[in-house]
Amino acid sequence: MKKFLAVLLAVLMVFAICSCEKKVDEQQSENEETENVVDAPEENAEEAGEEAGDDAGEEAGEDETPAENSTITMATNAYFKPYEFYEGDKIVGIDAEIAEEIAKKLGKELVIEDMEFSTIITAVQEGSVDFGMAGMTVTEERKESVDFSSSYANGVQSIIVKEDSPITSVDDLYADGASYKVGVQLGTTGDIYSTDDFGEDNVIQYSKGNEAVLALVGGSVDCVIIDDEPAKALVAENEGLKILDTSYADEDYAICVAKGNGDLLAAINAAIDELTLDGTIDAIVAKYIK
Ligand code: GLN
Repeated sequence: MKKFLAVLLAVLMVFAICSCEKKVDEQQSENEETENVVDAPEENAEEAGEEAGDDAGEEAGEDETPAENSTITMATNAYFKPYEFYEGDKIVGIDAEIAEEIAKKLGKELVIEDMEFSTIITAVQEGSVDFGMAGMTVTEERKESVDFSSSYANGVQSIIVKEDSPITSVDDLYADGASYKVGVQLGTTGDIYSTDDFGEDNVIQYSKGNEAVLALVGGSVDCVIIDDEPAKALVAENEGLKILDTSYADEDYAICVAKGNGDLLAAINAAIDELTLDGTIDAIVAKYIK
């Protein structure tokens, strides 16, 4: 009897141990399932992002939000044909198209903000936009406020007069006793240089180039000093005007970025180099300047 009880006890103990181990196994596999469930959405999300070729999905893992990351904002003044102007409610032109190509190379969507020309540098400095591109001339003074990319185009300051004007060459503006009223667009190099040359009292500033030209047509100024390509467009749009053969200044156009924004400047310069080498910039310019 004792022997029987001992065997029974032994059998019961083995049984108890086995069932206990089984419980632990079950618990472990339950835990594993829970982990899988937790892992699954991440894996799925990654796969979905990869399948969609979605850069924003990968960037979302970084600290910045996708919205901040996926767009790049350019400040311009869209009354500067053929570099930037409105076609319907869209801003088009040489700068707009080159900027679009640069943004593509940077993997960003381009957003264009239209503002007064004289506020572009401040917007860039404050960081409310990423860069300024507006047929903007590189000057030593501006270089103290912003950094410039390599130049992507040359500009010329031209002089617009009425067809019957006594001003026949740039020299007439400097002649002894000459006192002509010069119309300019506020904050442009035409404004800065002619204020230096002819004095504040002889320079009248307008917020847009076409307003200066309307003043010339109306007789409130004797000439307008403005960049050559916009000058051609404005003369074509208004009767009785001509551009003098002699120009007022030669300049380089470039993109400006906030000082210290070296990464963006390097990326923009690399894009400009590539777009110059592969002929994209020439092709864009040829589309607008015949
Ligand atoms: N090139 C001139 C400047 O930089 C004018 C530019 C403009 O009016 N958009 O001042």
